Amino acid sequence: MRYSLILLDADGTLLDYDAAERSALRRAFSDFGLPYGERAEEEYRRINGRYWLLYENGEVDARTLQVERFHSLIAALGAGPADADALNETYLGYLAQGSFLLPGALEVFRALSARKALAIVTNGFTRTQRGRILNSALSGCISHLIISEEAGAAKPDPRYFEYALKMIGHPCKTDVLMVGDSLTADIRGGNACGIDTCWLNPARAANGTGIEPDYEIASLGELPAIAMAE
Ligand SMILES: [Mg+2]
Repeated sequence: MRYSLILLDADGTLLDYDAAERSALRRAFSDFGLPYGERAEEEYRRINGRYWLLYENGEVDARTLQVERFHSLIAALGAGPADADALNETYLGYLAQGSFLLPGALEVFRALSARKALAIVTNGFTRTQRGRILNSALSGCISHLIISEEAGAAKPDPRYFEYALKMIGHPCKTDVLMVGDSLTADIRGGNACGIDTCWLNPARAANGTGIEPDYEIASLGELPAIAMAE
């Protein structure tokens, strides 16, 4: 067997994060009597993106990111006064319930799990990701779940991958395959760590990054043939 351990990214690979985010925002806004629509969604994505960049650059901590994005959102929408802290808590609670699977994910995951050890490797917050993944239909087939907040490093940092392989108890790198939709996080990280990589590229986007996956697939359905190859 070429591969005995398959590392799979969660969002954009197995789970639909956008659907989870939309659903959680809509429910939280409804609970707080705030008007929800396309504008709120767009503003949220813009503001949240800005705070995530600050967070990734180490300029704000996770707590600041979580609360300040809602402060800014309420101000941008002119929807105040509202308690940003409570809104964030409600939002996170709903987000942790957002276990929307992408088409084909369950079938492929089940087929692979019969023959391989499967670990989900995801960047994000423990509370959110653990809830979403363990509440999903995938949960019974997962050998390990490695979340960047617990690892103290995030993809593509090789320290994240070293931590994951240590937690999984799988020191050998030659029979590991990393599968994900992000060239900059999943593929760059796998390459840097010395494990084989498979880029899920459903949009068939051009790769101008210089980051080279070992395999490229347009749908998860193509994965078993690669992962199960002798
Ligand atoms: Mg992803």
